[in-house]
Amino acid sequence: MTTSPTPRTRFAPSPSGYLHIGGARTALFNFLYARRHGGTFILRVEDTDRERSTDASIAAIIESLEWLEIAWDEGPFFQSKRTTVYVAEVERLLREGRAYPCYCSVPELEAKRAAALAAGTKPVYDGTCRDLPAGDSARPHTVRFRGPKDGETVVDDLVKGRVVFQNAELDDLIILRTDGTPTYNFCVVVDDAEMRVSHVIRGDDHLANTPRQILLY
Ligand code: GLU
Repeated sequence: MTTSPTPRTRFAPSPSGYLHIGGARTALFNFLYARRHGGTFILRVEDTDRERSTDASIAAIIESLEWLEIAWDEGPFFQSKRTTVYVAEVERLLREGRAYPCYCSVPELEAKRAAALAAGTKPVYDGTCRDLPAGDSARPHTVRFRGPKDGETVVDDLVKGRVVFQNAELDDLIILRTDGTPTYNFCVVVDDAEMRVSHVIRGDDHLANTPRQILLY
């Protein structure tokens, strides 16, 4: 008989406001699932968006969790303090050819986006920089993940069942911004892997992010 490992769950709020009822519900489910199975519940503060994150929100969220008696076993971990970890992973993907520098400027990308919307098509990155011969790292650039162009990615969700996404619709995600900061979907994957999260229990609003994160794994 095989025994399944004890679960490791996480609540990962973005501190841009108070803990709302949806967040409290997500925290509760993660907490209860870990408790029910003798597992570990992790608190991770997703504060990579420095403009929207505030210390007052962090304090309010922690205070609210304490008031609800939702006690975490590990953390709180702060993504803002882990930039070097994420950047090292971006560099590894670049070395492995799984990511590439993108030199397209914001106005260029916006013009293409507007053209796609006007033509009634889905605005996805057109891959201009995907196959450039060699990167010129001195020029301002973002780093994009080199995703598959065809095939599909299946999110096997315990509530919704199998949700199928066409990879062609998931364009090459920016994982590092021009200013050298990593982006949300990338940090989540690095952290969930490193923190050995076994069950991702999250808000329904993250369904669209999940196939991108699966591809990054
Ligand atoms: N930080 C995200 C949010 O507050 C949640 C991330 C996740 O559950 O993966 O919406």
